[in-house]
Amino acid sequence: MVNIAFIGLGHMGGPMAANLVRAGHRVRGYDLSDRALAAAAGVETAASAPDAVAAADAVVTMLPTGRHVLALHRDEGLLAAAAPGTLFVDCSTIDVADARLVHRAATDAGHRALDAPVSGGVAGAEAATLTFMAGGGADEFAEAEPLLAAMGRKAVHCGGAGAGVAAKICNNMILGISMIAVSEAFVLGERLGLSHQALYDVAAAASGRCWALTANCPVPGPVPASPANRGYRPGFAAALMAKDLGLAADAARAGGVDARLGLQAARLYAEFGAGGGADRDFSAIVTAVRERSGA
Ligand code: NAD
Repeated sequence: MVNIAFIGLGHMGGPMAANLVRAGHRVRGYDLSDRALAAAAGVETAASAPDAVAAADAVVTMLPTGRHVLALHRDEGLLAAAAPGTLFVDCSTIDVADARLVHRAATDAGHRALDAPVSGGVAGAEAATLTFMAGGGADEFAEAEPLLAAMGRKAVHCGGAGAGVAAKICNNMILGISMIAVSEAFVLGERLGLSHQALYDVAAAASGRCWALTANCPVPGPVPASPANRGYRPGFAAALMAKDLGLAADAARAGGVDARLGLQAARLYAEFGAGGGADRDFSAIVTAVRERSGA
């Protein structure tokens, strides 16, 4: 059993913390929202984030943005309240520069750190089937592995500080671009008189095959479990895809990478979110393609 502090018990953090409890760990949690705090099954309630970490061997954070993560670690007393050598595991999706700042702040304060963002969404958090991508030292990764195993199915050690979030935003850049590609292909198929099922049957067995097609198909019918069959209820919300693509676009610009499709995907998802699609599954971008095509 490990004493774990868990800060940020929202859509993802709540079920992740509950899975740590289920695996036999003692978890003290804190969230600014009383509702989130009350909903996390089996998690002891702390009065504040510093209170949660005081007796912890490991601290897991699952917060909205880099701004939240940095403020909590550096300004809100989290690092100062923890015992020396505590392992800080940040699972939030944030940019690589912020993740490195968090590592630096943690190690400067005498602690250890790992960035370990996730793929798999709320369903994966609930079912403990997340994929973790981790950045930090090999010893830190080895120590975190049993905790990650209680919350997910796979954990990949991607390299040093920031490598986990780097892998996450690169992966989601592939996903965002491929969802737009699949959506455009379905709308083109509609215009050419192809049925959704016919295009699906061909592409799923041919070189167009990808996760955006076979697991999260943007049109209703071919993949019964895809959000398209339930009015595009997420799933993975378009707002989160826009956020991740924004992080990838910023990193591409900062690094001088010619990522024209990635930048365009970031723009299209930002527009889709601003136009009312933010809370829909990211596959609903097909409806924007159809609208722009005059259908
Ligand atoms: P969420 O908004 O549901 O949860 C975040 C929680 O953090 C909220 O409950 C909020 O009250 C709490 N919080 C914010 N600042 C705090 C502070 N200073 N102290 C304590 N609590 C604080 O968000 P989520 O969907 O759980 O996402 C969390 C992270 O996971 C994000 O970085 C997101 O990009 C990433 N992510 C989300 C999904 C998804 O499908 N939801 C999938 C993969 C990754």
